[in-house]
Amino acid sequence: MDNTQEKMDKIISLAKRRGFIYPGSEIYGGLQNSWDFGPLGAEMKINIKTEWWNYFVRKRGDMVGVDTALIMNNKVWESSGHLANFSDPLSECKKCHRRFRTDHLELDAKCPDCDGELSASRQFNMMLKTYLGVTEEKASEVYFRPETAQGMFVNFQNIIDSLRIKLPFGVAQIGKAFRNEITPGNYIFRTREFEQMEIEYFIPAPKKDSDWQTHFESWRVDMQKWIAHIGIKPDEIYELDIPQNELAHYSKRTIDFEYYFPFGRKELYGLAYRTDFDLKNHGIKYHNNETGEEYYPHVIEPTFGVERTLLAAICSAYTEEDAPTSEENETEKRVVMKFPKWLAPIKIAVLPLSKKDELISVSQKLASDLRQNFVVAYDETQSIGKRYRRQDEIGTPYCLTVDFDSLTDGKVTVRDRDTMKQDRINISESAKYLKEKMAESI
Ligand code: ATP
Repeated sequence: MDNTQEKMDKIISLAKRRGFIYPGSEIYGGLQNSWDFGPLGAEMKINIKTEWWNYFVRKRGDMVGVDTALIMNNKVWESSGHLANFSDPLSECKKCHRRFRTDHLELDAKCPDCDGELSASRQFNMMLKTYLGVTEEKASEVYFRPETAQGMFVNFQNIIDSLRIKLPFGVAQIGKAFRNEITPGNYIFRTREFEQMEIEYFIPAPKKDSDWQTHFESWRVDMQKWIAHIGIKPDEIYELDIPQNELAHYSKRTIDFEYYFPFGRKELYGLAYRTDFDLKNHGIKYHNNETGEEYYPHVIEPTFGVERTLLAAICSAYTEEDAPTSEENETEKRVVMKFPKWLAPIKIAVLPLSKKDELISVSQKLASDLRQNFVVAYDETQSIGKRYRRQDEIGTPYCLTVDFDSLTDGKVTVRDRDTMKQDRINISESAKYLKEKMAESI
């Protein structure tokens, strides 16, 4: 299917209808560009974050994780440069007063909405302000963090002291970040409140370029592997090597991993070599006890957005295909989310063939047993064909159907989401069977 706005509209409507993503504050008319994650969306976000943490922290010997405060001392943002520089260029239409990011407009552009004249560009700081304490005065003004990174930098010395860890090593964090974006939009792609999964990988001060390039290349490969792991194919990604003259002043090299979203090719993840900019700003040096050397560590930063991961995974998984019906030689359109199994919000659906009491009690027992190990749905309404389609639409890898034979032979039919092939397995062995199946491929 074409990667177009039409596809995006279908995804948005499916996501709302089936409980992935709802418009925020909907019963009060919504809040601009805010979204809530429903039962299935919440499951998927947890899957993404847990898998990421296992992948990049627990399975590696050179990584540790932290969970730091959302609101930090203002001096952090002074030192990091955010108060002075964390801004985007803004132009306002003199006629309709809508605001735009100047860098997203053509040179000498008019207002994209009403063709009005645009004001000169000025810098707009994106830090989101709030107040700490009981008075709303200047002295108690603080900011919500616009990135999780600073919590990792300011704890560098604490981590070294408590773990006696040596360079190179990395620190990871998952958590909310807030940005007063000038033009939020494109569904959950750009919002003012979002979650990040970030890594600050600290390396010794390089003596030659290859010292940092080796680490940079190895992170690039790890990011490519993660991208494949979430079900995205290499040709759905464009690695944009940011040209030297467009790099942020602290970066020597940055790659944006761009994804072909239905609304265009846009940044999914970033990988940057930030030199010693960050720890130098905070005045944090590393002492090598063995050599006596003292220096500011350099940093390679792979950064990932949780919501952009979810959106790209949904766009890649969304499939429309012709599937056979129960009538011979007839097909019908089926919508199926071909999520990797680990990412699917629901792993197994238990479906009694009819609403007869005997079938229902066997099915409910099976569902409740499987729930000890898997996220399980139970559905007894409508025809079996319709129930399969409903599970396909939300990407459930396996459906187990309990029929009248099950009562005598102790078996159920297991149907595979992708191949639609059916197999008979023993109820008593179903948990073991499904565990093995879940572990297959990704
Ligand atoms: P963009 O150019 O799209 O504004 P950025 O380069 O400012 O993004 P970073 O500061 O590198 O983004 O943030 C790291 C990651 O956080 C991004 O790769 C993206 O996945 C995610 N992210 C950044 N801003 C937002 C946002 N407003 N909404 C959702 N996710 C975001």
